[in-house]
Amino acid sequence: MLRFIVLTNPLNTSTFLYLCYMRKFALAIHGGAGTILRSSMTAEKEMAYKKALEDAMIAGEGLLVKGGRSMDAIEAAIRSLENNPLFNAGKGAVFTNEGKHEMDASIMNGKDLMAGAVAGVQNIKNPISLARAVMEKSEHVFMAGLGAQEFAKKINAEFMPDDYFFVQQRYDQLQEAKKEDKMILDHTDKEKKFGTVGAVAIDQHGNLAAGTSTGGMTNKKHGRVGDTPVIGSGTYANNKTCAISCTGHGEFFLRAVVAYDISCLIEYKGLSLKKACDIVVMDKLVKIGGEGGLIALDAKGNIELPFNSEGMYRASKKEGEDLFIGIYKD
Ligand code: ASP
Repeated sequence: MLRFIVLTNPLNTSTFLYLCYMRKFALAIHGGAGTILRSSMTAEKEMAYKKALEDAMIAGEGLLVKGGRSMDAIEAAIRSLENNPLFNAGKGAVFTNEGKHEMDASIMNGKDLMAGAVAGVQNIKNPISLARAVMEKSEHVFMAGLGAQEFAKKINAEFMPDDYFFVQQRYDQLQEAKKEDKMILDHTDKEKKFGTVGAVAIDQHGNLAAGTSTGGMTNKKHGRVGDTPVIGSGTYANNKTCAISCTGHGEFFLRAVVAYDISCLIEYKGLSLKKACDIVVMDKLVKIGGEGGLIALDAKGNIELPFNSEGMYRASKKEGEDLFIGIYKD
């Protein structure tokens, strides 16, 4: 899109008319996939989820509208979701088998392929911002456990006490999962859901970014890490191809290297974003039993929100178009 920008030089008050090529921005977010059925949803719950998704979109879009960077927009959107107990990330992170919260997050910049990730961090209010700090303030890409905690202290990340992360419904989920001795996804089975959160965006400068944040899976063993913090599996961004953020049963998403696979299908096979997403989410993952979905956006601003589960909390917006919010399959 060609935009006219009028700039006034404060030194001699002359006015310049600049012609510059600016892209239309676009933003998509998810709040997890799983067995999300209309029949098991109350009107109040549905409204609360929609409001939470809308708030996160507003946080990200507010920056993109002003010409802000996609990296800042996705971080703002994800922080908003992390601060909401409805989602399995940050405040609402699920319980591990030991009754703790071990959170994972990752972020990637499509312009220069810089990336940052953390795994198994505890008491961090916004793991996505810690992942970004790893990218920007360390010489590493991926930090885990105690080392990541120490790094968090060094950069003055915000820590919260254990009770900040206590959500009764998540605690009940842990008791259920323990009874059956299995690891469950946040929005799954009776309440089968993968409440991980994520965002992808393209800004007016044509730069893509992606980020994902999660508490993982209820009743997971201490030290278990899923796809979310693994660059190429749960998150990927490349200006040449696309930005992807996944949600689903991490073990399968890891084995299918989901996010990078979609990028490769675009880069090496010349497929459209839609075709690449269909192959990976609806065929490859299904064949190995991998339930879940993802949000994807390409360098042209096309958006895809595919999932092979019953539902996925999701929202998207292209500049100049209406906000879309979806929960169920239809
Ligand atoms: N992918 C996440 C994990 O396996 C779970 C989720 O998406 O909710 O840790």
